Amino acid sequence: MFKISPSIATPCTLCQTLTDHPLGLCDHCRQELPVLLHACEKCALPLSEDQLICGECQKHPPLFDRATALFIYAQPLSHLVKGLKFGEQLHLAPQFAEMLAAKVVQHPLPELVLPVPLHPTRLRQRGFNQALAIAQPLAKQLHIPLDFHSLLRKRDTPQQTRLDAVERRNNLRGAFELRQPFSAKHVALVDDIMTTGNTVHEISKLLRKNGVEHIDVWLIARAVE
Ligand SMILES: [Zn+2]
Ligand SMILES: [Zn+2]
Repeated sequence: MFKISPSIATPCTLCQTLTDHPLGLCDHCRQELPVLLHACEKCALPLSEDQLICGECQKHPPLFDRATALFIYAQPLSHLVKGLKFGEQLHLAPQFAEMLAAKVVQHPLPELVLPVPLHPTRLRQRGFNQALAIAQPLAKQLHIPLDFHSLLRKRDTPQQTRLDAVERRNNLRGAFELRQPFSAKHVALVDDIMTTGNTVHEISKLLRKNGVEHIDVWLIARAVE
């Protein structure tokens, strides 16, 4: 799963042991990463091997078709994802993209890759969108066009984590729009983490209204509440 390319040794991000691995993690810490092995085919929730679709997706199927995640959002991976999000470890984005590419090629590939957008104000504050940082090398590797222009986040929604479940859903209603007509029928949404799935659900609603028939969601990690 992890490809090693020659580079100079640097201290492991987590324990300071010298390593030349491109993820910046020593052998020991890499083994500690919570790799997502068996998960719900719809929402990527970790499941036991005898289950295909989780109870929640059976009762309320999400509007996207299939979410794929590399990891469970837990230590020490969460530390790396936070580092990526806040820009200290942006170099991890192509590494994660390479791993995701290896996982998603097992399924039919989309016509377009769409990173989940940040609101323009948030983007200005942060200087980059971590979803785009992952989607860019990922699309390139898979030879699929990247579209980071069509989808717009028009409301700067409060941090989802500070809200309860109902507030989270209401918070996102109408938060996204398409800037231009959309012709793709099969797309993949890319984000760093998915928790409730409300964000990609809301975007999926918009895409379906605009004729998209098949929606994949590609993630670094699936958070389990
Ligand atoms: Zn280490
Ligand atoms: Zn599920």
